[in-house]
This record gives sequence, structure tokens and C-alpha cells, in this order.
Amino acid sequence: VKKFQNIQDLRSWRAEIDNAGETVAFVPTMGSLHEGHLALMRKAKEIAHHVVVSIYVNPLQFDNPDDLVKYPRNEKDDLIKCRQENVAVVFLPTDAILYPSGFQTSINVSEVSKWLCGAYRPGHLEGVATVLAKLFNLVRPNSAVFGEKDFQQLVVIRRMVKDLNMEIEIVGHPIVREADGLAMSSRNQRLSKEEREAALVVYRSIQAVEEAFEKGEHDAANLLVMIGEIFAKRTSTVSLEYAEICSAKTLEAVDYIQGPALYAVAAYVGGVRLIDNVVLDISH
Ligand code: AMP
Repeated sequence: VKKFQNIQDLRSWRAEIDNAGETVAFVPTMGSLHEGHLALMRKAKEIAHHVVVSIYVNPLQFDNPDDLVKYPRNEKDDLIKCRQENVAVVFLPTDAILYPSGFQTSINVSEVSKWLCGAYRPGHLEGVATVLAKLFNLVRPNSAVFGEKDFQQLVVIRRMVKDLNMEIEIVGHPIVREADGLAMSSRNQRLSKEEREAALVVYRSIQAVEEAFEKGEHDAANLLVMIGEIFAKRTSTVSLEYAEICSAKTLEAVDYIQGPALYAVAAYVGGVRLIDNVVLDISH
């Protein structure tokens, strides 16, 4: 695995791949790699000759300075995992490389960023779109793989790529979960034993919504009451930020599920913010 920090090294490598007529699939990450990230890398390997992984904790997308400071960093282990997954290049830029003084451009994918996390984390999705536009220009991938865990991010990026005519195929990958159902996340490392246990309520709400939906409950208000009751039992350790039933396309809340919908949830467990979601598709 090649480890690049400089833009020039990355560009020269990328030019060689072009000359060889080969393809690149890209997996952008913030590091502290877990099985969810590795699944994206395996998917990437299936669809291109070479896999590029970026590891960069992007300050632009942190609305909470404490979360940025506490975000777990495990560069050494990450590089070992990338080597095991046959990743060709790991790109680890610094803040000064990506945002030299005078940097002032921002990408706002306005409509789909209004809801869910966009409503609670000001500037977050703009930070995500901006760094990904930069990384796409640097890596020039043929395709990029994203987890459905960050469903809104995936919708934002698909929209950006379309709107800005970027020639990149965006590939989604299902959420990878722990054995007990908790969605894998680098932030899970920050949970105490007690909090880790309490965090399961998030997955229980996912299961309950899925089950009720499949039994024919398509009324959002009824589903939200049920979700509220599930979270009410754990109020001491878990605080619900939002729970929404929305369109899987526009992410705008719906009253009644008619087309593909999404149940999306964000909750604080201790000081750690966790998100999860499930697609509710009537055609299934
Ligand atoms: P992050 O390092 O958290 O910014 O995530 C990097 C990429 O990995 C994003 O496309 C995420 O959606 C994806 N990802 C993170 N956790 C999971 C998971 N549990 N299952 C699938 N994809 C994930």
C-alpha cells in the first residue's frame, strides 16, 4: 500500500493509472477503520482495478468542536487494515494541504441538506460536500463507494455529482452492523460499557419500525409514537435528537408512506452522537 500525503505524489500516481488505461474506485473515510469501512473497500475492489482510501478527519464538517477533538484516530492500525484489503493508495492529507490560507469555497447542496442531520448540524453537510468535491478532483476516481449508514450524505453526494457533472459513479453499500445490531461506527469506541448497552435502543427502534411497516403500518405519526415509547424507556442515558419518517428521495418528512421511505434516527448516548436508518420500501 502506498501512503501519500502530498497532492503531487497522488497526482503522479493517478497519471500512471490513466496511462495504463486502468480504473480507480475511491473510499473516503475519517479513519478508525472498522468492518463497515472494510466492506466498502471490498466493494470498491470488485468494481475497479485499484482502490484509493482517504483518511482525513475533516474539520469543516464538525459543527461541534468537542466532537472533533474526541474523534478517534488510529492511523497505524488503519494502514495495516488497508494493506490487508489490498488498497493501492491511502491518502492522508493535512489540514494545511486541503485548506491553505485563503481557502473560501463551499458547496451547498441546498434542498436535500435541509432535513435530518442538516437541520441539527449547521454546516455539516456543506463541509462534507466541499471536502468530497476536493477529494474527487484530487483522486479523479471512476467510482466512489459510500455507506448507507450516512444516508443523507449519500443523497447529497449523488445530487452534487449530478449537478456538477462529475463523471463518477456513486455506489451505495448497506449498513454493516455488530452482532447485536448496533450500526458500526468509529464513534462506538467512545461508548462506556453501560452506554454501549444503552445504545442498542437505537437498533431496537429500527427493528420495531421495520416490523410494524411490514405488518402494514404506513402512517408516520403512528410509527413515531411507537418510536417515542421505545426511547422513553432509556431517557437517562439516551437522548433522542430526531426520529423522522421521510421520503428516501427528497428526505422531506412524509405523513403517510407511499413511495420509498426512510426511517432515520439520531441520538446522543452519553456524549456520543449515533445515527442509524432503514429504508421502508412498499414495493418489497
Ligand atoms: P466515516 O469514516 O464515518 O466518515 O465513514 C466513511 C464511509 O464509511 C462513509 O461512506 C460511511 O457511510 C461508511 N460507513 C461508516 N460506518 C458504516 C457502516 N456501519 N456500514 C456501512 N458503511 C459505513
